[in-house]
Amino acid sequence: MALVTRRKPGPGKIVIGIIAVIVIIMLYYVLPKHQAETEAFEKLSQLPAPVVQSSQKAADRFQLPWELLAASFQVRLEHGLIDSYPEDADIIKTAARLAGSKGIDRSEIVRKLGFSRQLAGEIAARAKILQSRSFILSPVYGFPYKILLHYTDTWGADREGGKRKHEGTDIFAVEGTPIYSVSEGKVEKLGWNRLGGERVGVRGKDGIYYYYAHMSRINPALKVGLTVTAGSLLGYTGHSGDAISTPDHLHFGMQLPNGAWINPYNFLRYWEGSMDRSRA
Ligand SMILES: [Zn+2]
Repeated sequence: MALVTRRKPGPGKIVIGIIAVIVIIMLYYVLPKHQAETEAFEKLSQLPAPVVQSSQKAADRFQLPWELLAASFQVRLEHGLIDSYPEDADIIKTAARLAGSKGIDRSEIVRKLGFSRQLAGEIAARAKILQSRSFILSPVYGFPYKILLHYTDTWGADREGGKRKHEGTDIFAVEGTPIYSVSEGKVEKLGWNRLGGERVGVRGKDGIYYYYAHMSRINPALKVGLTVTAGSLLGYTGHSGDAISTPDHLHFGMQLPNGAWINPYNFLRYWEGSMDRSRA
């Protein structure tokens, strides 16, 4: 008579099982979530600040989500259906046609704008993507300077002879010009690093890591773990770190909780605009 013995799974099988579960969670949950987060911020960062500001104003007036208006231009631009973002007057016209669209609904876009169901579906999906992270385009954020300064979009430009890409915006200012936090958050990193020189890293309440580099001096009152608000003094403009031979400037970077750096240029332009409005 043959004996059938039941054996417990060996430790090897248990380890393989655990790895399989981790891989499945990564593939079906973590990665799509990370991709969705990066995509939402990338799409938001591609909207020129004046388009956001005009869309917000027009959407307010005609009672609809501004993200729907912005999406209607962004998607058409990507498809080559329009050549550029529209001027204020056309933004207002589109807002008037969409008036009273409380939610984001494909059929309503088809009916009010006369677009095909496919295009309307893409616009509705994009509007929802923009809406999921559009808190970043609100006046609770501030500009890192109290004065208007010169800066351009240099995202992705070569650094160290092409060894790495520029992952931020450089704002040029006279040495010693005060730098302020753009967001509420906690000081996470402080002091010297090779590239950044004297740098401050703030973990925003929104989860984003805000990086301020090349300072001449850090505000001596700052400590790791200290809470700051939008407008708190972080330090003073300089050329420390790898900016030692370049004109004084602030390197400003934004890293998402998933590790991706995003282009802050249009966000800075928007926050700068909010600063002007509050002064007027
Ligand atoms: Zn830089």
